[in-house]
Amino acid sequence: MPQTPMQTDPNTPMIEIRGLKTHFFTDDGLVKAVEGVDLDIHPDRTLCLLGESGCGKSILARSILRIVDAPGRITGGSILYRAADGRMVDLARARPGSRELREIRGGDIAMIFQEPMSSLGPIQKIGRQITETIRLHRDVSKAEAREEAIDMLARVGIPRPAERFEAYPFELSGGMRQRAMIAMALSCQPRLLIADEPTTALDVTTQAQILDLIAELREEFRMAVLLITHDLGVVAETADDVAVMYMGKIVEKSDVYGLFEAPKHPYTRALLESVPRIGQIGRGRLPAIRGMVPHPLARPSGCTFRTRCDHAMAGLCDQREPRLKPQGAGEVACFLHDDEVRHPAKRNAARPGQDTESADA
Ligand code: SF4
Repeated sequence: MPQTPMQTDPNTPMIEIRGLKTHFFTDDGLVKAVEGVDLDIHPDRTLCLLGESGCGKSILARSILRIVDAPGRITGGSILYRAADGRMVDLARARPGSRELREIRGGDIAMIFQEPMSSLGPIQKIGRQITETIRLHRDVSKAEAREEAIDMLARVGIPRPAERFEAYPFELSGGMRQRAMIAMALSCQPRLLIADEPTTALDVTTQAQILDLIAELREEFRMAVLLITHDLGVVAETADDVAVMYMGKIVEKSDVYGLFEAPKHPYTRALLESVPRIGQIGRGRLPAIRGMVPHPLARPSGCTFRTRCDHAMAGLCDQREPRLKPQGAGEVACFLHDDEVRHPAKRNAARPGQDTESADA
């Protein structure tokens, strides 16, 4: 039978990402897909990584598992993983293909994708793929692995699991394939599940079922979940904590209530304003975020959001790069909320003899 869920301290991060940079060295130039990200992932909580397509969310997740495709690679920072035995492993420096990394990937940390066929092989029966995953990471017999695989297929809500164990992926519907992929990811009871837009390709009913399923299993297995999404509805339904990403950087972090009640960063506010609300229908056009995400090879100087921001301050936002700073219960990277930069005179009056902060960019 599956192992008992491990007891974990929810206050101690399982993953501490510091100053992470993942860059792509293309023929056309350098693409800074992830540029100096600091992020903690806590056990027993769901962290949603929110942002528009192309803002670096998936590359950040792939960096954690070290599955970034060439010409991309991690160029700086650390990804400290606290193993169940308390050992700290810097995943950013782990040797690709090393046994340690293979054991963590798929065993301690599993990932599910928008497209189930990204992880399910097309010409192998579902059951065999799950039992192979179990036996790769755990010392169990074929018969035990089979029993666990069927049990897991049942837990993810696949009817007649023993029958589906013998099915090929193409014989299942999209929703069932997604459930089978989740069963495979969870078959080794990972401590962290990374879900990259897992419901985007599904109809709304199946989407709700899959999100409920992930929430139930998270509770049952005491996992951490890193859920990548561009959908605020998904965030509202699933998140404990939220990190908002824009052009490779985290621009705001908050718990889910703080984010919806009092969003601070102009980008977060614009994302929230662009969502239709009950009662708003028929009252004109929905506000949209002005402009487009800049081309990755043409990153704006200073604050990367300044080309779309209604509050951009000339001489400041175009010249200096805002850093994440505590703001209420969360953190935000925006000069509107940074009195030390906007009003250095006040700060110097409070702390005579000290210079103003030097320019970041
Ligand atoms: Fe807008 Fe300036 Fe804040 Fe950037 S730092 S989000 S440009 S106000």
